[in-house]
Amino acid sequence: MNDGASIAERKMQFLYTLRSRGVTDSATLVAMEKVDRGDFVRGLFAERAYEDMPLPIACGQTISQPSVVGLMTQALQVASRHRVLEVGTGSGYQAAVLAQMARRVYTIDRHPRLVREAEAIFDRMEQGNITTFTGDGSHGLPDQAPFDRIIVTAAAEDAPGPLLAQLKIGGIMVLPVGQSDTVQSLIRVHRHETGYDYEELRSVRFVPLVEGVAKED
Ligand code: SAH
Repeated sequence: MNDGASIAERKMQFLYTLRSRGVTDSATLVAMEKVDRGDFVRGLFAERAYEDMPLPIACGQTISQPSVVGLMTQALQVASRHRVLEVGTGSGYQAAVLAQMARRVYTIDRHPRLVREAEAIFDRMEQGNITTFTGDGSHGLPDQAPFDRIIVTAAAEDAPGPLLAQLKIGGIMVLPVGQSDTVQSLIRVHRHETGYDYEELRSVRFVPLVEGVAKED
């Protein structure tokens, strides 16, 4: 489809596709224009970086579909003073997009190799406001909590309790919930003074949130 198109043309098409799939928030679009998805995809799939599809990355994981990254980012309503936690660093692409909009992004993955590779990309980009962690993100990051915003990019059956507890009052969390082998729901949680409101945004498909830290691979 894109054969012969220049990188600039592909990027224009990329932004056009995002808009046509419902990513209309201008701050989100500006952030996604700044971060080159091509930096986060390697090998055979690199030439498909500007297509609206998930792609395989190392450790059997995937970089999410750009329109889903855009829809989750805009649903999160990030402001420049915010500290954001991302569970599921993967390639680092979603964290890099959030880092354009937030004060600081804390991102955690259970695969040490993915964290190392994402960190190397953030260094090359000179993106200094991302802090990476290796660990089981379903416990959150108690030492850095509470967070203004939390995004989970792997599917759990339910919103993990520690993450709900680490969300500020007035904060928002966006996450996919449901069984890993079926269609899941993208949920937005608002924390208010006395509890949590849940809102279902759309159906999505993510790799599962898995317990524990992965062995080196
Ligand atoms: N946000 C990523 C895509 C994430 S794919 C991107 O922009 O590329 C989902 C990621 O969640 C995988 O890298 C997987 O290793 C990670 N993951 C799954 N369970 C986890 C857990 N309990 N804690 C931390 N990371 C987890």
